[in-house]
Amino acid sequence: MRGRGDRLEAVIADRELDRMLVTDLINVRYLTGFTGTNGAAICGPGIRIFLTDFRYTERAAAEVSGWDCVTLSGDWLGGIAERLTGRVGFEDDHVSVRTLSKLQEKLGEGVEAVPAGETVEGLRRVKDDEELATIAEASKLADAAVKATLEDGFLGKTERAVAAAFEAHVRAGGGTLSFDTIVAAGPNGAQPHAEPGARVIESGELIVFDMGAKLDGYCSDGTRTYATGDPGEEGRRVYETVLAAQQAALEAIRPGEKGEDVDGMARRVIDGAGHGEHFGHGLGHGVGLDIHEGPRLSLRSPDVLATNEVVTVEPGIYLAGDLGVRIEDLVVVTDDGLRNLSSLPKELTYVD
Ligand code: ZN
Ligand code: ZN
Repeated sequence: MRGRGDRLEAVIADRELDRMLVTDLINVRYLTGFTGTNGAAICGPGIRIFLTDFRYTERAAAEVSGWDCVTLSGDWLGGIAERLTGRVGFEDDHVSVRTLSKLQEKLGEGVEAVPAGETVEGLRRVKDDEELATIAEASKLADAAVKATLEDGFLGKTERAVAAAFEAHVRAGGGTLSFDTIVAAGPNGAQPHAEPGARVIESGELIVFDMGAKLDGYCSDGTRTYATGDPGEEGRRVYETVLAAQQAALEAIRPGEKGEDVDGMARRVIDGAGHGEHFGHGLGHGVGLDIHEGPRLSLRSPDVLATNEVVTVEPGIYLAGDLGVRIEDLVVVTDDGLRNLSSLPKELTYVD
């Protein structure tokens, strides 16, 4: 974690800040290693302060290295404020208006709070080797859990039962879920964020199965769409279109490529098949400690891909009241393209 504080120090110097106050717990974890529910980090030139309360003194001692650990009792914001000087960057995308005004009341003379959201998020985009290994491991666990779930079949089961089976397999493998699993059958598949319900899966349906496992705080994310028997000509055609769109986007991924251009590669294929208006979300997103982080692959994303970023590639077509298809891989951007972490086959697979 030590190098991460140094990288943050360089960024805040660039932005002419004297201190950066980090309060978002995922960002605090990224910088310091702390996994508890109350902590903050203050970074500055040669300054590395981690603050928590008495419940976490021991945990901080075990988890945090390279930061001076301080246990605050009583006035939390006051204890933070007295350690801030000059121009202080704060995470305006995470701090509530109320907390900011309380903090400002406690700041000393000449101390100024400056909005500096997305600062640590920017550092989090490019993963180090250990992070990449953990994400790959999480992805492998999720794929194994999908395979185990498929062996028990879909027919006659509720969406909820299939989602629960997946979760049980992930937990048996030592992970947790990186988000609520989506199992959406037939017309439910047309809602990109459908919640698995009591609907019983019938034959001849397409089932969107969007799932991820979490290991050591790191998420995986993947989607496959399965068929319980022939989904009909339209279903097959939509599936092939989504697969071709994904292939086109995967081939475009490399360092220096813009998020909007990679998105455009998939969107062009889907537009060409007459389904432009049925692909209502972005192509993909970064994945790490958060299930959705930078960079974004979407219609107007200015993000430029870099080596060792981890992104999803997940085109979809959603026909309201009828069916949905989404195919999502998790990939690492490499110097000459990508490494695909998703191992599940992508030709249309039939499940009983
Ligand atoms: Zn997903
Ligand atoms: Zn996703």
